[in-house]
Amino acid sequence: MSSTSSVVLNTGVSMPLVGFGTYKLCGSEEVYIAVDAALQAGYRAFDTAAVYRNEADLGRALRDLLPKHGLTREDIFLTSKLGPKDQGERAMEAALHSVSELGMDYIDLYLIHWPGTQGVAVGDPCNQGNRAGSWVALEELHAQGKLRAIGVSNYTPAHMKTLLQSCKTPPALLQVEFHPRLCQTELRRVCEEQGVCFQAYSSLGKGELVKHPVVMEVAKGCERTPAQVLLRWAVQQGVPVLPKSSNTTRIQENMALFDFSLAAAAVERLTALDDGHKYCWDPSEVA
Ligand code: NAP
Repeated sequence: MSSTSSVVLNTGVSMPLVGFGTYKLCGSEEVYIAVDAALQAGYRAFDTAAVYRNEADLGRALRDLLPKHGLTREDIFLTSKLGPKDQGERAMEAALHSVSELGMDYIDLYLIHWPGTQGVAVGDPCNQGNRAGSWVALEELHAQGKLRAIGVSNYTPAHMKTLLQSCKTPPALLQVEFHPRLCQTELRRVCEEQGVCFQAYSSLGKGELVKHPVVMEVAKGCERTPAQVLLRWAVQQGVPVLPKSSNTTRIQENMALFDFSLAAAAVERLTALDDGHKYCWDPSEVA
């Protein structure tokens, strides 16, 4: 395996297994320095969202830095997401706004960020109608080539089932929280059966899981860092990851995953930590 290891989406397009998470990166200077370090370390995929409020800064940094690293737009894979406030009728306008904020002609992958709509009660059936409306808008922009692939995030197995039954264009990817304490067995099975790429977010448990004693022990045993162990645990199973860091050393560390592997016993030990713990938001109540 090389650092360019990738997965092929159901659109036929390749996506790097390791992408750079940008949640909480804020302000043009912080984004610029992190993107420069990420490109230098070999990251070729970047994950943002309308709600991160950094699309414009990320786009500006990439447009400025790609030539410095001998790269062009086609060399990178850019993901953004539809904010919960824009579900339904506003989806098309919001997606086009993301394209324009990024200052790109197209987005490689655009996701519905959350199954619910901001301002609508979680149990309200309107949530279902709104995300169905959003999907139709995304399908249209996909057909126009503005969104090269479309997918969803934070969907439960029930949300996935409804979408898969009604869509014209199937989702290319599902992005959810995934780490040894949240193995998402059912969602992974649904994705595998339906040819949907399953992608992890918060692989480091938002920085908390690197301090778990079992993770630290496994790391010591293979002379790697806890973060590398957590990321390798996912990529070794073919699951793409999106580590976020604003620190140059950790940005490099999180990409150095392809010159070692975890023994089967170490993988099993980590997987046995699954207790359904979520460090992030929980979509299970969204109708
Ligand atoms: P994460 O990647 O699990 O953890 C990030 C935290 O870990 C930061 O505090 C970071 O601090 C720290 N960290 C990074 N590398 C480290 C290392 N090598 N050793 C120790 N600590 C380290 O959390 P996340 O940001 O929640 O998830 C990653 C990305 O997934 C996000 O940025 C976003 O792009 C995406 N995401 C999507 C959703 C969604 O709803 N679709 C939700 C959450 C996240 P420093 O910055 O100081 O290094």
